[in-house]
Amino acid sequence: VMSVIAWIGLGHMGAPMAGNLVAAGHEVRGFDVAAEAAADASARGVRVTASIAEAVAGAEAVFTSLPRSEHVRAVYEGPGGVWETAPASALLLDTSTVDVETSRWCHEQSGARGIRFVDAPVSGGIAGAAAGTLTVMLGGEAEATALARGFVEPFAGHVFELGGATSGIAAKLANNLMLFVSLLGVAEGAALAASLGLDPERFFEVAAVSSGESWPLRTWYPAPGVVPTSPANRNFDATFTAALAEKDLSFAVEAAGAAGVRTPAARIALDQFERLIGEGYGAKDCSLIAKFASPDGRI
Ligand code: NAD
Repeated sequence: VMSVIAWIGLGHMGAPMAGNLVAAGHEVRGFDVAAEAAADASARGVRVTASIAEAVAGAEAVFTSLPRSEHVRAVYEGPGGVWETAPASALLLDTSTVDVETSRWCHEQSGARGIRFVDAPVSGGIAGAAAGTLTVMLGGEAEATALARGFVEPFAGHVFELGGATSGIAAKLANNLMLFVSLLGVAEGAALAASLGLDPERFFEVAAVSSGESWPLRTWYPAPGVVPTSPANRNFDATFTAALAEKDLSFAVEAAGAAGVRTPAARIALDQFERLIGEGYGAKDCSLIAKFASPDGRI
């Protein structure tokens, strides 16, 4: 059944996700502050609007895909924002990766206004967004997450209803902690193999069918010409920026600290992303972290 759906934030992830809702037959009205993002979404069949109010008018579902917690807070609570302008009957779904506190605030403030909110972070990157194969992690009241399932299906490969408020974000932050700690292991193992004289392609073949196998090994192997999807093949142009990796990992470490969970490995990974950003590489791919493992600091 066709629905009217609003989409706020048409960036690397938002535009292809919204495009998959269009392809599924929905009418999607999108808003972004950046003209370039809006143009990309328009080419995917999204009807671009000039304001949040215009995008959300009459919408059954309102998605957000925004860079950071402060953008999510501004889009919800700002003048002319989602809470002020969306129909009370709309289901709000935030697919951004935010901190647990921001997600909790979205649930509480939406609830206080009588509006249903679901935290709906995603995993699978820009390729998964385009292919419609993202893993979607839903947190909220059972009735709301059941309704959310239908709306996210066109861009999802896997949908999990994980329980109450912030449980989607909890899964996303824990997942990304694992991802970035694994990435450091891949970087150090790859550097060791190369410095002990192994050919990178040959060693990759071994590790890929051994106990060192992981998603960053398969996807981001940090030597040129080994795996086609690796940023190392393209001067570390970003598929996932170091700046966003630092953001996700800092939220995970912060949540762990609040819960008394000890995460020394995640802290080392976080330090290295901060160093990468400090050296001016925040907009490069997070897999450039491998330079710190290399004997001469080069890849
Ligand atoms: P992005 O920066 O490409 O897109 C965000 C968009 O939001 C931009 O186009 C920006 O102009 C827009 N925006 C900012 N403020 C706005 C406002 N007030 N009103 C309307 N639009 C506004 O980021 P992205 O890579 O698409 O990531 C979006 C979210 O998804 C982030 O929270 C990120 O952590 C998460 N995420 C990203 C990936 C990935 O691989 N890129 C994977 C999973 C999750």
